[in-house]
Amino acid sequence: MTARSQLYEGKAKILYTTDDPAVLLTYFKDDATAFNAQKRGSIEGKGAFNCAIASHLFKQLEASGIPTHFIEQTSANEMRVQAVQIVPLEVVVRNIAAGSLCQQTGLSLGTVLKQPLVEFYYKNDALGDPLLTLDRLLLLELATAEQVEQLRVMALKINDVLQPFFMTCGITLVDFKLEFGLDQHQRLLLADEISPDTCRLWNLTEDDPKQRVMDKDRFRQDLGDVASAYRQVMERVLQQAL
Ligand code: UDP
Repeated sequence: MTARSQLYEGKAKILYTTDDPAVLLTYFKDDATAFNAQKRGSIEGKGAFNCAIASHLFKQLEASGIPTHFIEQTSANEMRVQAVQIVPLEVVVRNIAAGSLCQQTGLSLGTVLKQPLVEFYYKNDALGDPLLTLDRLLLLELATAEQVEQLRVMALKINDVLQPFFMTCGITLVDFKLEFGLDQHQRLLLADEISPDTCRLWNLTEDDPKQRVMDKDRFRQDLGDVASAYRQVMERVLQQAL
């Protein structure tokens, strides 16, 4: 399958069409952005690390009964995926308080949540991806009430698979962002990627708040050793057999 033309270039990935209209090719770039693209940089090897991590996690999730857009990894930086219509929502699942949850609620960094929290953000760069209420989401017709419920159930099921998976890797899954798409039968599939760009991952055996970070917060907060943290996540994730 040869890539034909570039369909879309995002901040961290490029989407190409293929000979089959139902199949797209995702290329993972080394480019990194944060704070709504106000901070830009490049992390050497990130594209390949994220492609390998996301491919392995998609396989893991498929094996656990969660439908995803993933078809196969075709090279170090590329995977074939089903073409879907992306739902303009960022679904965030949190197990431990960090990031915007701390900033907006006053909860201390590291507070263990009694149960996972699912949040919906409007995927809209111009508006800065604002947090939505259910009523606002329905008002904007970003999804139906039934789809919202389905997204919540899928997000929690994904957390139920990923949290113990990362635990076996010696990593605490603090929070993560998911995106979903609709296939031609209007079925919701997990799409986009799951990687250190989209998750907060803390080294289980490290207590120091800066040392333990194995995700994009190393880039956001200029903590250094970003590429080696991503590589470490990849090595640990790939070691865990399906
Ligand atoms: N996240 C993401 N893309 C976004 C916003 C958030 O992948 O555009 C991820 C982020 O890496 C973290 C989780 O979603 O794992 C929750 O992010 P939060 O709302 O705390 O925002 P942040 O502090 O990252 O701005």
